[in-house]
Amino acid sequence: MVLTIVKYGHPALRQKGARIESITPEIKKLIADMFETMEENHGVGLAAQQVGMAKQLTVIDVRGVTDRPSTLERDGQPADVASIMPLVLINPVITPAGEPVTGGEGCLSFPEIFAEITRPGFVEVKALDAKGKPLEFRCGGLLARAVQHEVDHLNGLLFIDRMDKKTKLELQPELDDLQAVTKTELAKKK
Ligand code: ZN
Repeated sequence: MVLTIVKYGHPALRQKGARIESITPEIKKLIADMFETMEENHGVGLAAQQVGMAKQLTVIDVRGVTDRPSTLERDGQPADVASIMPLVLINPVITPAGEPVTGGEGCLSFPEIFAEITRPGFVEVKALDAKGKPLEFRCGGLLARAVQHEVDHLNGLLFIDRMDKKTKLELQPELDDLQAVTKTELAKKK
C-alpha cells in the first residue's frame, strides 16, 4: 500500500523515533508499505517519520541511481552494493568517517527543494535488518549520504538543518510556503 508522505511542517518529522523491540507483523507490513511508497515516489530512501510514524526504521535503495556511485565494505572487504539492496535499517547507529564531501540532496518531504549538503564521505553502520538480525557495514558515496540523511530523520533532524546559512536563507521563502501549506492542510483535518 502506498502511504502518504508527510511534508515539512508536519510534527512527525521533528519526532525522535522509538526503538523497535521486535519485528511484529505490523512492522513487516510497514516495511513493505514504505518500500512501495518510496518506489512510487522515485526516492532513494524513506524514513518512518516521513509516513507519520516516529520509529527507528528506514528503507534505502540506491540501485536506481547510476550516475552517483556508492561503495560498500563488509568485514573489512569491498563488497557489491547490490548485495545489501534493498536495505532496511532498524535502530541504526552510525559512526561518520572520512573527509567531508559536498553533494546534491533532496527529500521526499520537501518536494522540488534541492541543495548542496556537506557530510562525511564514509559511514560505519550498525543496525538490525528486516528480520531483526544484526547488520554491520561501512559505506561511501551516495549510500553514505543516503544513510546519514535517513538516520537524521530517525532523530528528528532534517536536511535543512545541515544546509549552510546562505543556502538556507535563499530557500527560506520556499520553506516558509511549504510549511504554511502543510499546516493549513493539517488544520483542515482536525
Ligand atoms: Zn528526507
